[in-house]
Amino acid sequence: TCDGVFTGRWVRWFAESVSTTEPELTDLDRRVGDGDFGTNLLVGLTTTIRVLDGSPGAPGSPETPPAAGPLEMMAGVFLDEVGGTSGPLFGLVFQELAAAARAAGPVLTGAAVEQGIDAGLAAVRRVGEAEPGDKTMVDALLPAVTAVRRAGPLPADRALALAAGGARRGVSETARLRARRGRAGYLGDRVTGVPDPGAVGVALLFASAAGPVT
Ligand code: ADP
Ligand code: MG
Ligand code: MG
Repeated sequence: TCDGVFTGRWVRWFAESVSTTEPELTDLDRRVGDGDFGTNLLVGLTTTIRVLDGSPGAPGSPETPPAAGPLEMMAGVFLDEVGGTSGPLFGLVFQELAAAARAAGPVLTGAAVEQGIDAGLAAVRRVGEAEPGDKTMVDALLPAVTAVRRAGPLPADRALALAAGGARRGVSETARLRARRGRAGYLGDRVTGVPDPGAVGVALLFASAAGPVT
């Protein structure tokens, strides 16, 4: 079942994925931004794991948390502590995923995954004011939720696999886009051919539900 053990493992695998790919994320943001994206994401996840390890329901503890628990911890860390433009924006995505998981009950459902990504996308768009095609994380979140929605009712792990596929297709698209938002917006044509780091982070998030990405 997709309970707090599932989401806890997902968050840990996401941290592992970011730890492995941090040099590539850093390199991407060096090419289209200021080079701190990999560090921002890694610091947030390292802190999140520390919080998870110290919480009831950590591996070895008898209490199983509801599915929302680990997502709420990650959201809190990113909203309160993580820098860069991406820190609070990822925090909003995690917060909406957590809220949808909480509303679904103790176990994460595919419908909650769809609802969480959709609300996360709306929150990012409201706060960041990016349109689709501006070469931001919006361009990974939008195809992710579209892929899940098209498939209809699914278990959470299947929904997340579809979200990962949609996000990866969005990442490829961002390589062909010129940035209009964030720091990359100042670089104009130079960014062509390089995918958006934040979009890559979103794809890593969903793909990590199935295991660490190397
Ligand atoms: P900073 O640009 O402040 O150094 P980061 O490097 O942490 O921030 O994050 C950069 C990422 O943030 C970009 O790759 C992009 O995906 C995302 N981003 C930047 N501005 C926006 C925005 N206005 N709306 C949505 N996402 C954005
Ligand atoms: Mg940056
Ligand atoms: Mg920065």
